[in-house]
Amino acid sequence: MTMTIQDYINREDKYGAHNYHPLPVVLEKGEGIYVWDVEGKRYFDFLSAYSAVNQGHCHPKIVGALNEQASKLTLTSRAFYAAVLGEFEEYVTKYFGFDKVLPMNTGAEADETAIKLCRRWGYDVKGIPANQAKIIVCEGNFHGRTTTIISMSTDPDAKGGFGPYTPGFEIVPYNDLDALEKALEDPNVAGFLVEPIQGEAGVYVPEDGYLKKAYDMCKAKNVLFIADEVQTGIARTGKMLACDHENVHPDILILGKAISGGVFPVSCVLADDDIMLVIKPGQHGSTYGGNPLGCKVAIAALEVIKDENLEENAEKLGKIFRKELSSIDSDMVTTVRGKGLLNAVIIKPKNGKTAWDVCVALKENGLIAKPTHEHIIRFAPPLTITEAELMEAVDIIRNTLKEFE
Ligand code: PLP
Repeated sequence: MTMTIQDYINREDKYGAHNYHPLPVVLEKGEGIYVWDVEGKRYFDFLSAYSAVNQGHCHPKIVGALNEQASKLTLTSRAFYAAVLGEFEEYVTKYFGFDKVLPMNTGAEADETAIKLCRRWGYDVKGIPANQAKIIVCEGNFHGRTTTIISMSTDPDAKGGFGPYTPGFEIVPYNDLDALEKALEDPNVAGFLVEPIQGEAGVYVPEDGYLKKAYDMCKAKNVLFIADEVQTGIARTGKMLACDHENVHPDILILGKAISGGVFPVSCVLADDDIMLVIKPGQHGSTYGGNPLGCKVAIAALEVIKDENLEENAEKLGKIFRKELSSIDSDMVTTVRGKGLLNAVIIKPKNGKTAWDVCVALKENGLIAKPTHEHIIRFAPPLTITEAELMEAVDIIRNTLKEFE
């Protein structure tokens, strides 16, 4: 007997933990900017797996790299040297302009790595007294789900009820240089960890110049500027890194998601020798970190960004997209914001209908997106989308919002 969509949903509900609240759509295939559900209906994917699939679903070059490596060697652990690891390390460090890389798997692990690296640098290089190192973070941050990372969260859902929490973080408002300056006065501050655009918080874009000034302030106080570009990196905002918009080269760069084009979990931390070499053998690692599959996949995924000019496409189509969204005549849309193809609209509820209802209606009309924080819908299609396809998607968004008038 064939399963209905509800059967698939019920099975996940019954056997899986309830740690997500998915939109009621069951996907089974993806290609480029589209995904298909189990009944064969096609959708524009306007989430791109939270910006992991910037290169489009099942990109043939990336999947090809996976397949080729999969039948050769998949995992050695870091107990041994592996031919492919050095190739990836050389490729990624030259690509982003750093001396060294430390590969991990998920974004949260890369953030954890950056925190350890920063603290260790604080003690060994800056001379902060033992166990006193502080890292400044921002209100509304999202860096992942581990216990230390939620300790610096200000989101009650992410943090509440999971204590005791890891100390050593000071929270300042985002996009507030005065608050940062004050926090930087403490000589025990080792680093400032920031998302160049706050993605999960609802695509909050700071004022122009914020990153550069924050970077300069950190330099003046011998504090590491740590950019979490897990969501904003890899061409999503119209430049390879969101920091590139302000010509900021972070001391520590955190990457994940689209570095592997949604094909295999790869994340990494990049830094120069004076920082990276404070970590010695045995002090950090991961069984799968730097595995041959991930390395080959990441090289291919980064090549695709350049081969297909995805930075330029994101920059150009982002401008068109925001202009089109802003021209939609709906009193539910109060704000449109973003950079490149990382965008969001703020939805004012109407007749009891919320951003969730809009997303369900968008799905009915062939476009999937997901609300973040109840009233914000993030729109982040694969960066391979063409202008004609984008305009088709805009029509779906416009017509869907009309249904709520
Ligand atoms: N950092 C940022 C800025 C993110 O947006 C995310 C995920 O959304 C993470 C870290 C965590 O990445 P992962 O879910 O791969 O652990």
